[in-house]
Amino acid sequence: MTNVDKEKLRGVGKVLGEAILMAKGMVKPGVKLITVADAAEKFLRDKNYGIAFPMNISVNEQAAHYTPCLDDDKVFTNADLVKIDFGAEKDGFLGDCAVTIDLSGKYGGLVSAANEALAKAISVVKAGVTVNEIGKAIAESIESKGYSPIKNLGGHGINEHELHAEPFIPNYDNGDETELEEGMVIALEPFATTGKGFVADSDIREIFSYVGEGTTRSADSRLLLKEISTKYTTEPFAARWLSNKINSRFRLYAAMGELMRAGAITPHSTLVEVSNGMVSQAEAQLIVEKEGCEILAKV
Ligand code: MN
Ligand code: MN
Repeated sequence: MTNVDKEKLRGVGKVLGEAILMAKGMVKPGVKLITVADAAEKFLRDKNYGIAFPMNISVNEQAAHYTPCLDDDKVFTNADLVKIDFGAEKDGFLGDCAVTIDLSGKYGGLVSAANEALAKAISVVKAGVTVNEIGKAIAESIESKGYSPIKNLGGHGINEHELHAEPFIPNYDNGDETELEEGMVIALEPFATTGKGFVADSDIREIFSYVGEGTTRSADSRLLLKEISTKYTTEPFAARWLSNKINSRFRLYAAMGELMRAGAITPHSTLVEVSNGMVSQAEAQLIVEKEGCEILAKV
């Protein structure tokens, strides 16, 4: 990794941190989720940064991959545990960072379990450390507080235009002795839960990736595919971003369904904890160094 790349990554991380802090400040009971997502996405665009993926706003037992739908009327309540996970982009360099906000006042312990696991994981990162050593540190930290790590989610390498690259960095000791290398860009993302510690796909689908041209019949789906294949071929996109083409919720989601069946797009379903446990998350992005790491994005 060259110095030029590092400079770009630092810029991406800095502006992403600012976007997340702004969004975090907006998360209050009575505020619409879509107001926060729109504001954070606009924040990046106004600073001439791209969006690496739609702002994920996952609440309570949702662990990841919820983003507001077209005309979403959901509001935050004073019972909510809110995860904000967001990504910025510049010339293919991606940032990825997340934070949890407890609006209930009941889940402080669960939130600090994820935060402390992240701090522990960061403290063991250096060139040569194995990914299962990081996983072990995360799991021990979360379990010592009486919670469970989510085992089928984890950190990851980040390459140009590739948010989830090798290596996978587990949230427990999975026996994988792959070593971190100097110069690797990685995200660490411990999830802590009161539940069993696994997530599964729900039937909520709001975030998608373009796959390729598919055969579709309706005018609506052809209209969307043209827009998607023009603007959203490299990074994931939100269904609501297509409201400039179709602003009826029913017609938009019917056409998205057609595109999924045609294999033109693939969904990233909202992930829910399998036993409906409450979920907290902390995520930071960093560069692995010989004797430690440089933090690029952390809130
Ligand atoms: Mn990530
Ligand atoms: Mn993330």
